[in-house]
Amino acid sequence: MKIFLNGKLVPEKQAVVSVFDHGLLYGDGVFEGIRAYNGRVFKLDEHIDRLYRSAAAIALKIAMPKSEMSDAVVKTCKANGVKNGYIRLVVTRGVGELGLNPYLCSKPQVIIIADAIKLYPDELYEKGMSVVTVGTVRNHVEAINPRIKSLNYLNNILAKIEAINSGVAECIMLNTQGYVAEASGDNIFAIHGKKLLTPPSWCGALEGITRQTVIELAREAGYEVREDVMTRYDLYTADEVFLTGTAAEIISVTNIDRRPIGSGKPGVITQQLCAAYRKLAAETGAPIK
Ligand code: PMP
Repeated sequence: MKIFLNGKLVPEKQAVVSVFDHGLLYGDGVFEGIRAYNGRVFKLDEHIDRLYRSAAAIALKIAMPKSEMSDAVVKTCKANGVKNGYIRLVVTRGVGELGLNPYLCSKPQVIIIADAIKLYPDELYEKGMSVVTVGTVRNHVEAINPRIKSLNYLNNILAKIEAINSGVAECIMLNTQGYVAEASGDNIFAIHGKKLLTPPSWCGALEGITRQTVIELAREAGYEVREDVMTRYDLYTADEVFLTGTAAEIISVTNIDRRPIGSGKPGVITQQLCAAYRKLAAETGAPIK
């Protein structure tokens, strides 16, 4: 496998970063997870834009212009023969001292990995997944704003540990006010009748690229979509609940806190949106050439 590291494609074994990199020492950096379908990189511009917004939010200056970063993603896919896969784009603060000061770090390290994708098992897509709400509260927006896709994922990992220890693969995190924020690695939607509801980003959600795509597809299909505060009530009383994310795509949630949601089976609107999403993903994106 060839890895893009600071402007060069290098063999995997040579793709190493310093133990003094603040990405490792402090989780100081930002990243993106991107998908390639049928020889195209899906929503590449949107991912690159979010990466640069995340970087700006942590005062990390990426020297490469956006267009070069996009080209590097495509180049890395091409070099590895990845037509359908997952791309991990990481920008770390770079090599620094043992102290926190980011201004003493040399220069950001840019890493791009293009590899195969590991999805949730098929059974979860067919039957829907069970999740639990967890005690780990989503980061306060003035602590680490969840809109920043940073390398510091401990908040999500602590929530994920609670989920796994409860016997389920995913969880729902609430914010400091008790409103629904998102899942540990996905955004969340609830459907009531023909209305879709999802938490606004200020409630502690990442501005998911899949979330935005689903909002657009749902509106095109004639559904009303509202970004509004949600409590667990809105989930427990929903006809359908689903999660969205680049890796998971759209996955139905049929059980929350051991309560069946709606019919307890993946709902028709979720399935309709899932089909529309897969069609769009199969047909659009930046060509890998
Ligand atoms: N929320 C969190 C915390 C995430 O890590 C992710 C990405 N896995 C998402 C939401 C979904 O975002 P996207 O659709 O852009 O992948």
